[in-house]
Amino acid sequence: MEANDIEKTEEKRGLNFVEEIVFNDLREGKNGGRLNTRFPPEPNGYLHIGHAKAICMDFGVAERFGGTCNLRFDDTNPVKEDVEYVDSIREDIHWLGFDWADREYYASDYFPQLFDLAVRLIKEGKAYVDDQTSEQIAAQKGSPTEPGQNSPFRDRTPEENLDLFMRMNAGEFDEGSRVLRAKIDMSSPNMHFRDPIMYRIIKTPHHRTGTTWKVYPMYDFAHGQSDFFEGVTHSICTLEFVPHRPLYDYFVDELSDGSYRPRQIEFNRLNLTYTVMSKRKLLQLVKEGLVAGWDDPRMPTICGMRRRGYTPQSIRNFINTIGYTKFEALNSMSLLEHAVRDDLNRIATRVMAVINPLRVVITNYPEDKVEMVEMESNPEDPTAGMHQMPFSREIFIERDDFMENPPKKFFRLAPGSEVRLKGAYIIKCDEVIKDAEGNITELRCSYDPDTLSGMPGASRKVKGTLHWVSSAHAVDAEVRLYDRLFSVENPAAEADRDFREMLNPDSLKVVKGVKLEPFAAELAKTQGTKFQFQRIGYFTPDYDSTADALVFNRTIALRDSWEKEQKKG
Ligand code: ATP
Ligand code: MG
Repeated sequence: MEANDIEKTEEKRGLNFVEEIVFNDLREGKNGGRLNTRFPPEPNGYLHIGHAKAICMDFGVAERFGGTCNLRFDDTNPVKEDVEYVDSIREDIHWLGFDWADREYYASDYFPQLFDLAVRLIKEGKAYVDDQTSEQIAAQKGSPTEPGQNSPFRDRTPEENLDLFMRMNAGEFDEGSRVLRAKIDMSSPNMHFRDPIMYRIIKTPHHRTGTTWKVYPMYDFAHGQSDFFEGVTHSICTLEFVPHRPLYDYFVDELSDGSYRPRQIEFNRLNLTYTVMSKRKLLQLVKEGLVAGWDDPRMPTICGMRRRGYTPQSIRNFINTIGYTKFEALNSMSLLEHAVRDDLNRIATRVMAVINPLRVVITNYPEDKVEMVEMESNPEDPTAGMHQMPFSREIFIERDDFMENPPKKFFRLAPGSEVRLKGAYIIKCDEVIKDAEGNITELRCSYDPDTLSGMPGASRKVKGTLHWVSSAHAVDAEVRLYDRLFSVENPAAEADRDFREMLNPDSLKVVKGVKLEPFAAELAKTQGTKFQFQRIGYFTPDYDSTADALVFNRTIALRDSWEKEQKKG
């Protein structure tokens, strides 16, 4: 992209602070005008909505300024990593709408170069093998206000260090018995400079390199160099890496001749209310069976949100809304839900479903008559058109839409009152039928035959409009109603409580025997279809559906639907 094109783009839309940095670097001709970012997940879990924020930034900024974004798996710890995660990460990034073309890389691709660099630093007296335990090393670290102490192994000769490091990698020593450390400064005000660990011994085979290596680089010794090897120009990450940046630069400087060097820029993490973002905790929920898997629709994972019926567009819109800053914050789940509703309102097919059915017999309607009435499939989408729905003598309405002794402002059905059946006739409740225990089992109603659309009485006003389905034509379904996974606003802040105690015991409610209009049942055979069950909420078919048992996930409840119906009349 030419500089003045970028200038024009900038005029059109405000840039966030990261884009501004990138924009200025491009304008100044840094890196020969090249822009290359990367998204660097560790394949030790499934991606969550926090990662989506990083993905939107890394891929988004590259797209915006005509650069490229690499996908780099940061696979430096074979103990926790797996190809299952690699595959899921690829799928989730694509689903969000981004692509890395042929630029898929692995930190493990650079193990040979990293090893060579380590050997060079040892020879130059800049790295040493420490035989202490991790506890001993931690105890010598000092604090931000107190300098640390030198390791007794700090002054080993390069020859001895080299010999030990080679033997570490040959598998001669046990895990945890030795590490390779950079020899920098044990009294540096930046704790990360106090002889950081470069390599540790791990004997678990790696999912890509097998048993080739017995030593594995730490994040700080792998990340910046990997960026450098790939020609990354802007290494965008989250704020917790601010104190790592000098060390990032330190190791890159060991490789760079100064003509090019990746630049680390940090932004604030995404944190959401009523959930957790830690992969460790999410893994624990999965392993302990506290959720149904990584893609449980209550999980903050991308695959969970996909299964629940969130759209990529709604996630991207939400991330746009919260923006990128230099300050940590807790983002509201309601804001995400708002974005989901907003997008689904645009695209979801409107259908009728009765969650808690109550039988209604329309006594003055002929026994075997069936009329097809026209329903608007999506008033927000002029191309969506209409579909037909059968009307007959026996229908279901929502149990909540009837009250025997209603309060004043109750505009739904009650003895002697009238309501409109959406898209069909006005009915009046004449009689309430109860069982021996006094439970209402059925309503007897009469209809006004003059009130169907196109008839003279069609515009007759009644206060309430109800959704309904014809009982003979209804298809049974199961719906899964989800609520927030945690009952505490910020579980991560409750350090003294086990996070599992804070799980919301009512986060999943399964309702069977839901009555669905036949058109919806037919459409639901297509995975990923988005529905609005009128007056109830947004739903999507789940992959647990079978040919004879449909299962739906409630994506999100519909708010204010009642008022809206009232206004429409
Ligand atoms: P861990 O490193 O503890 O396994 P992580 O969540 O940092 O977990 P990574 O796979 O290292 O996982 O993350 C990949 C990228 O996603 C990193 O650049 C990281 O900064 C970014 N990222 C992770 N969590 C969030 C979040 N909540 N908000 C924004 N970006 C995030
Ligand atoms: Mg990380």
